[in-house]
Amino acid sequence: MTFSKLNDYFLSIFEKKYRTEQLFDWLYIKRINDFDSISNMKKEVILKLKEDFYFDKIDILEKQEDVDVLKYLLKLRDGNTIEAVLMKHDYGNSLCISSEVGCNMACSFCESGRIKKIRNVESGEMVLEIMTIEKDLGERISHVVIMGIGEPFDNYQNFCDFIEIINHPKGINLGSRHITVSTCGIVPKIYEFSEFPYQVNLAISLHAPNDTLRSKLMPINKVYSLQKLMKAIKYYIMKTNRRVTFEYIMLAGVNDTKECALELVDLVKGINCYINLIPYNETNNLEYKRSFKETILMFYDILKKNNINVTIRREFGRKINAACGQLKTIKENLA
Ligand code: SAH
Repeated sequence: MTFSKLNDYFLSIFEKKYRTEQLFDWLYIKRINDFDSISNMKKEVILKLKEDFYFDKIDILEKQEDVDVLKYLLKLRDGNTIEAVLMKHDYGNSLCISSEVGCNMACSFCESGRIKKIRNVESGEMVLEIMTIEKDLGERISHVVIMGIGEPFDNYQNFCDFIEIINHPKGINLGSRHITVSTCGIVPKIYEFSEFPYQVNLAISLHAPNDTLRSKLMPINKVYSLQKLMKAIKYYIMKTNRRVTFEYIMLAGVNDTKECALELVDLVKGINCYINLIPYNETNNLEYKRSFKETILMFYDILKKNNINVTIRREFGRKINAACGQLKTIKENLA
């Protein structure tokens, strides 16, 4: 529950609002796992809490390690599994979390969409992804990216509650500027997100500079064309005055040509953005290959020369299949 919903709850049971702050302290600062540890509330309140709530938990089923990266296979209460990836940067620990069990977006290049969405990951479960991994690490997580399995804007309310919970100064207190959400382009939610009162960074999975190609790669483009998407993004920038990131996977011979680069320049020219080129991580899908390094650099140069802010994404965890697009809901060989 968010701080404000918990406030309402305490009022509804004729308790004072300061109980919310006390409970946030137990949950997110002291990090207790049972109601009986709460020592500053009356017995009746504790009983009521026990009646109305329970402590959820997430089990770590498996952990794989590579240089500066850890991939976690996590089991939710109902047995469903998701993955989360921890990346160690010089500026802190960044966690990539999953927002859905499976994904309905069916992007042709992405492993996470091989299994249709089974259910939303609840806001509390997203919070638990962070808390479970912080406990396992013995370190704080300083940055969160919602770029694991699932489409966060297809689970919008849980996503919003999650941000409100982790950002709250009386709780985990994770700065909104340290949080990034990535969407494949669910246009109505981009408009809604323009009104979202937290300064969370927005990334858009673009991956193609024209509708023909983008619709081939990402079925969502048949619903929300590039024109609609760009209009929504311009509205978001106008409303929030924030810069957006465009993610662009480099697929050999598909979207990495000189023509594509020039088309991309035209598409984003004048928009307050930067482009993150992502070397494609090869998956079981044999259709796509990673662009050659030289091609990626050629593409990068064209954008740079045209004054587009562009970076090439640093790679993490390719060996342990923990990289972008390699996360999946069910591990086939799980004992
Ligand atoms: N559904 C959201 C959140 C997932 S983000 C979204 O689409 O943005 C995961 C990022 O990794 C997206 O930009 C996705 O397009 C990208 N990705 C998917 N498969 C990939 C692969 N095999 N190699 C590199 N990036 C990939």
